[in-house]
Amino acid sequence: MKNVELDFWPGGVRHCVTFSYDDARFEDYRLVELFNKYNLKATFHICCPEWKDRFEFLKREGAKYVSVEDYAKLYEGHEMACHLAHHPFVHKLPKEALVTEAYRNKVFLESISGYPVRGMSYPFGTFTDQAIQSFEAVGMEYSRTVGEDPGFGTHFEFMKWTPTCHHAKAQELVPYFFEKLMFPKMMLFNIWGHSYEINNEEKWEYMETLCKSLANKEDTWYATYIQIIDYLNALRNVKFTSEMTTAYNPSAIPVWISVDGEPVEIAPGETKRL
Ligand SMILES: [Zn+2]
Repeated sequence: MKNVELDFWPGGVRHCVTFSYDDARFEDYRLVELFNKYNLKATFHICCPEWKDRFEFLKREGAKYVSVEDYAKLYEGHEMACHLAHHPFVHKLPKEALVTEAYRNKVFLESISGYPVRGMSYPFGTFTDQAIQSFEAVGMEYSRTVGEDPGFGTHFEFMKWTPTCHHAKAQELVPYFFEKLMFPKMMLFNIWGHSYEINNEEKWEYMETLCKSLANKEDTWYATYIQIIDYLNALRNVKFTSEMTTAYNPSAIPVWISVDGEPVEIAPGETKRL
């Protein structure tokens, strides 16, 4: 029997790089420019505009934000996703408010993006299992935490998506990400942060070095969060005969499976002899 594994990204590559930034702070203007310069993809988690009025410390700090009028243009080619309407601590919210927070945020972002907004990140990183049910009921398909999983794994639960690390730690992991493994596997480098944390030229230089060291690699797919979720869903939905002789891809996107270690593409709707 052939050794079949669900173990390649689009194009039959082993690496995937993605970035995720919260709060739509003013520094996103410069950060998006940097990502675009290096053909990198990111997901931006954005609350409703009125969230800022809830936090006195933000006003005191003089925090600045991307103008709502600029969202569509600035984040074009990247993904806009939810961060809940008012940036709440999820574990403190009544059940009814959980639904409203996600729903209002989704409607707001969809009115700007024009596409179904299907993902989120947890403000302050907090969540509960009950909250997850509410967010899924509204249509959320993934949610990022602020945890750390330096193993570059793809086996995460979509609604408890632990990133690889914060951007401040990412550079030291780059060599491990591209290291030749004894047992090759599909790997995900998922870097998160806030653009306001890049608050001096030294840190901008660091970010540029990080982007450069990850960008334009042959064996790498650059994607937003929802592209990753859609691909993993499609990959895991491929149907096989019991003896692994034939595969059928019922989804609308091509997938690459591993057959005896080699990538094999299965087109949308295709039934393929392996
Ligand atoms: Zn936030």
